[in-house]
Amino acid sequence: MKNEMPQLPYPSNGLEPVISAETIEYHYGKHLQTYVTNLTNLVKSTEYEQKDIEHIVKDAPEGGIYNNAGQVLNHTLYFLQFTTPGQGKQPEGKLNELILRDFGSLDELKKQMEEAAVTLFGSGWAWLSLTPEGKLQITKEGNANNPLRQGNKPLLCIDVWEHAYYIDYRNRRAEHVKNLWNIIDWQTIGKRL
Ligand code: MN
Repeated sequence: MKNEMPQLPYPSNGLEPVISAETIEYHYGKHLQTYVTNLTNLVKSTEYEQKDIEHIVKDAPEGGIYNNAGQVLNHTLYFLQFTTPGQGKQPEGKLNELILRDFGSLDELKKQMEEAAVTLFGSGWAWLSLTPEGKLQITKEGNANNPLRQGNKPLLCIDVWEHAYYIDYRNRRAEHVKNLWNIIDWQTIGKRL
């Protein structure tokens, strides 16, 4: 992945009422744009200037380059995993098999993701990822962290930085997280697997 703004597969009001156009305009249009711009400036004339985002997230030491690359990767995966409410279908094929094997049901996966997202203290992300051993895993990651750092394949994420939900839900993080299931595009998650 290059350091650039992803093209959204929906208009800015396409996720309403789950995520408003105003939140997309700030979260995608301003927050993500700032991470992309910061990273462009920070990597100039460093060993990371020509590296792809995944490489930086795996290898960069803690600090500005790592934080901004993490947020570019996290937000790109975040915004590209959504679709119009009700159009996201259900997990199919291999993804569905792994969900049933590792969680017993999709409802149980959702419950555990919601719990991770709601109980994460401070700013960060709840992640569903695939371990190198081929097991689905839910983790809580602070700040800009991505399970790629530990060698996992990131599949699905919930941003619980307050900027992700405060315009639409104020302090009601749990309600926001629950509503996100209506816009998850399970075909996209299946392709990432
Ligand atoms: Mn965010």
